Amino acid sequence: MPVPRELIGLAIARLKAGQVSCEKPQQEFGGLGEGIPCAICGAAISAREMEIEAVYPKLGERHFHVACMNALRTVCNDLADTGHATGRPGGPFGPIAQ
Ligand SMILES: [Zn+2]
Repeated sequence: MPVPRELIGLAIARLKAGQVSCEKPQQEFGGLGEGIPCAICGAAISAREMEIEAVYPKLGERHFHVACMNALRTVCNDLADTGHATGRPGGPFGPIAQ
């Protein structure tokens, strides 16, 4: 499933702000939301939605919508492969510092 462009943009913004990380989580849990805001889009994850709870070595616990986590993983994979969040140097989002 393609990742929505706006979520990619948000994931890059959160990464640049240091609010999320491309670190490998120490632990990940899936389940229904508990009303905690998503670390990417900022919307509360309701009990009718699936959430992913990830525990990072430095940042600690973060909660994500499944789609938002997919956007973050997409950006992090691009960064790991190319050093650029788009997969193309000089793409619309430009380079991102890690
Ligand atoms: Zn979200």
